[in-house]
Amino acid sequence: MTVKVAVVGSGPSGFYATEALAKRIPGCEVDIIERLPTPYGLIRGGVAPDHQSTKRVTRAFDRTAARPEVRFYGNVAVGRDISLAELREFYDAVIVAIGAPIDRPLGIPGEGLSGVVGSAAFVGWYNGHPDFRDLAPDLNCQAITIVGNGNVALDIARLLAKTRGELASTDLPDYALEAIAESPIRDVYIVGRRGPAEAKFTNVELREMGQLSDCAAIVNGSQLPDSLAGVEGSDRDLRLKQKNLATLKGFVDADPAGKSKRVHFCFYAKPQAVLGQSKVSGLVLERTRLVDGRAEGTGQSFALDCGLVVAAIGTRSEPLEGVPFDEKRGITPNEEGRVADGLYAVGWIKRGPTGVIGTNKPDGEAVAVHIQSHIADSKKAGRRALEGLLKQRNVRSVDFNDWQAIDRAEIAAARAGAPRAKFVTVDELLAAADGLTDAAE
Ligand code: NAP
Repeated sequence: MTVKVAVVGSGPSGFYATEALAKRIPGCEVDIIERLPTPYGLIRGGVAPDHQSTKRVTRAFDRTAARPEVRFYGNVAVGRDISLAELREFYDAVIVAIGAPIDRPLGIPGEGLSGVVGSAAFVGWYNGHPDFRDLAPDLNCQAITIVGNGNVALDIARLLAKTRGELASTDLPDYALEAIAESPIRDVYIVGRRGPAEAKFTNVELREMGQLSDCAAIVNGSQLPDSLAGVEGSDRDLRLKQKNLATLKGFVDADPAGKSKRVHFCFYAKPQAVLGQSKVSGLVLERTRLVDGRAEGTGQSFALDCGLVVAAIGTRSEPLEGVPFDEKRGITPNEEGRVADGLYAVGWIKRGPTGVIGTNKPDGEAVAVHIQSHIADSKKAGRRALEGLLKQRNVRSVDFNDWQAIDRAEIAAARAGAPRAKFVTVDELLAAADGLTDAAE
């Protein structure tokens, strides 16, 4: 009988694994199990609302979902509605594709003050993720500091620096659009503990910082190296770094006059302590220098006044009951995606939070090849058992048609020029799936 596989998580890694299985094993049964009523993981909840073209990858995922081999079960949480042990009993293989959704702590004094938030929470908030829509970060301040030199730091800075007009064409929920557009923010600091050559920005995203209508990008030219001599990396890495340096040099020469906001790139500064009584009033940073590529404190420190600190320092995965987890590395130990007999991992839970959307594709391919060559004859009940159990437990699962009803309702409710108005609570999403809503909040 045909091979039956459950994929836990419907972000890019889950969809790529599903597609690889459906292509390689005709007639197989692949069921995607997703905690939220909506598919696509970070494409919906992480990719910046002003990067709509990046979100177009969901069209390929829609084709995957439409394959006869594939079913989507949204609003079904493993660990709440069904256990991993049950899934392993029902399916020949379970692929864990749950990403890395947890913010890493800064590990400095004052971190617990109101006004210190992690990037996963902050990005989730402005993306209308049901887990974070109530975050309500206080943007009633003139300056915000973002810690980290990766693309997530750039996404956050760019969104905060945009004007109401620039934000109008995004799918930012109204509450986030109003909070940003009405905020008195003037200065956004992006701080990196190492230098410009070590920053993880990609160049297209860095260049965007120089193309904002009412914000100037500011760099202290003395922090930019003349060349990349001594910097390690592949030819490709070095070419990217070279481009980033050229872009940053362009910012040094740019005239900030007449712009109401500024994004300041501050390198060689590592967070030491958050200042404030009950809420953040500033961040103390220690100047660093590079020693063997690492940021070493110099003992000199300075403070940035700010009302919000966003730690965009990478995220980590969380353990899923029944799946081995390496606390130190924040991933599920695996060998090319294989965790145990019939248990696999793909994407960020497999290898940590790095790479772009397409980086997940080979992960899916590798596990599909393994499943294809190791599981030939299935005696498992698969989908039939899953549906029986969900019915018995009264779980209101969301299928792909339901999701498409949500999608249509969100598109119909969009403000002028915006792609959609997201429903931001599970209840609203379920009501839209049931066809009970035609206007988002
Ligand atoms: P990231 O690229 O790993 O960047 C994390 C940054 O945080 C690094 O600059 C790192 O510095 C710094 N950092 C880590 N721990 C720190 C600490 N304790 N104190 C100060 N700084 C610290 O992570 P990310 O920005 O979250 O992005 C995750 C992945 O998603 C990346 O692969 C990224 O490219 C991708 N992404 C892509 C896009 C896009 O293509 N448009 C958009 C968003 C995200 P060190 O280098 O010194 O460790």
